[in-house]
Formats: sequence, C-alpha cells, structure tokens
Amino acid sequence: MDNYGVMGNPIQHSKSPAIFRLFAEQTKQQLHYASILVALDGLSSALTEFKKEGGKGVNITLPFKHRAFSLVDSVSERAQRAEAINTIQFNEDGTLFGDNTDGVGLVRDILTNHKVSIKNKRILVLGAGGAVRGVLDAIIGEQPSEVVVSNRTENKAVALAEAFADVGPIIACPLSLLENNSFDMVINGTSASLQDEMLDLPGSILKEGAFCYDMVYGKGLTPFLRWAREQGAVTCVDGLGMLVEQAAESFYLWRKIKPETGSILSEMRAILPQVEII
Ligand code: NDP
Repeated sequence: MDNYGVMGNPIQHSKSPAIFRLFAEQTKQQLHYASILVALDGLSSALTEFKKEGGKGVNITLPFKHRAFSLVDSVSERAQRAEAINTIQFNEDGTLFGDNTDGVGLVRDILTNHKVSIKNKRILVLGAGGAVRGVLDAIIGEQPSEVVVSNRTENKAVALAEAFADVGPIIACPLSLLENNSFDMVINGTSASLQDEMLDLPGSILKEGAFCYDMVYGKGLTPFLRWAREQGAVTCVDGLGMLVEQAAESFYLWRKIKPETGSILSEMRAILPQVEII
C-alpha cells in the first residue's frame, strides 16, 4: 500500500488523516496516510527516513512550510512565489518535488463553496506568516481591486507586499492605521484564533455586507469571527473548507484523481465544532 502523511509539530490536532481517508474511500484508492510528529530541528531527517521507507508523499504543516522549501529538489511556480510548501511528492528517481496548495484551497473555498467573488473587491489579509505567503498569489490572481496586508510585526507585512508587488495591487498597512480603511472581505491568516486571542481591530474596517474568513478551523466561532459577527458582517466562515480543498489538490498531485469535496466537507463539518454562518 502507498504511504503518505502529514509532518508538523504539534500534529495531534491535524484533521488531514481523516480527510485523506475519506478521499481514498471515495475514489477507491489504496493508501495509508499518517500523522507524523517531527522534532523542531528534525524535518530533514524525517523526510529522509520517510523516503527510505518508500513513502510517496507528505503534507507539511506548521512550523515547517518555509524550512521544507529549502529541502526539496524542485518546486512549482506557486511554491516558488510563496517560498513555502505544504505538499511534497517523492519522485521515482529519488528527488523531491514541492508544491503549495494553500492558495488554490482558499480561493476555491471562497469562490465555489461560499459562492463569493473576489474580483474588484478590496481585501484585508491579516498576518504575514507561512499561510498568508501561500495564499497571496492566488488571491491576487482573482483580480481584487486591492489587497492590504497587516501584521503584528509590521516589517513582515511590508516585505510581503514588496515580494508580491509585481503580481498585482498589494500594499502593507500597520494595524494601527486600519481604521481609516474599509474592506469588502477580511481574511484572518494569523494564528491568534488558535491561542483564543482577539486582534485589536476597529469595527469601521468592515463595509456593509462584508465577508469575514478565519483560516483557523475546528475551533467553532473564533474570537475573530465573533468580533466580525458583532460588527454585522454578513458571512463569517472558518478555514475548514480551505483545509479540505488544499488537501484535494495535494491528493490530485499524488494520485491524479480529483475527489469530490462537497460531501467530504459536510462529513468533516459534522464531526467538528460548528461555525455559525450568518
Ligand atoms: P505562522 O506561525 O507562520 O504565522 C503566524 C502569524 O500569526 C504571524 O503573522 C504572526 O504575527 C501572527 N500572530 C500570531 N499570534 C498573534 C497574535 N496573538 N496577535 C496578532 N498576530 C498574531 O503560521 P501560519 O501562517 O502557518 O498559520 C497561520 C494560521 O493559519 C494558523 O492558525 C493555521 O492553523 C492556519 N492555517 C489554516 C490552513 C487551512 O487549510 N485552513 C492552512 C494553513 C494555515 P507575527 O509575525 O507578528 O509573529
């Protein structure tokens, strides 16, 4: 049986094994997918070990996405742009190919599952870590009127805006200056919700009918989504759809079969804390 897995630290919270089991059942593929806890300085040896055991591919999660980028032999264009990878394919010739499916996962979730358009919208992206790096290319590709990136550590947001400036309209804005702005869509790509912390955001940043998205999943209504609802945001959603869609893209890379994600998202929703979608 072909072996796959997800490498991260911590990893016990990962929903990827459940999602890949559902993909495999649906598409009648014979494969095994495991959670692999990797020591903070141990990604290189974990990959070597997995390769020796005949592993076919791994997903990479927190905090290794950037580190993994430097450990593979070749990468996709979108991974090159992000300088971060979440998917590795172990090729027959022993080389490793890296890809980043986070961006396509997020955009598919917003466009297809939530039926919300990005085109001509003014979008605020909060955070400047690996997840945000991975999604900017795909968001800008949907032709928003502008993307604004804000982060607790300001210089990281500035660096990201510079790195993606040639893709489309993107600027950085300090969190403290956001109140002079308003947005059609706010995407929280920080890990504040994981720590149950709320970002200090002025309510005035949400345009009427704004769409608010927290990349965190499995935590129910996060502090960010609760805040958004209190400000009257029309739609408040978590990142479970992104998780399923980015996994489906990894599955496609490895198995050349696209799972049908709608039913799997419903099954995952049923076993996780509900986000009240308003
Ligand atoms: P990183 O550790 O690379 O980045 C974390 C980001 O969050 C940084 O911008 C950091 O700011 C910011 N941050 C952390 N804590 C706080 C806080 N208390 N207040 C304000 N800002 C804070 O993580 P990732 O980018 O890899 O992941 C970010 C989130 O996205 C995670 O919660 C992860 O679970 C989620 N995610 C979801 C996916 C999905 O499929 N749904 C896929 C990938 C990620 P600073 O730079 O100042 O430290």
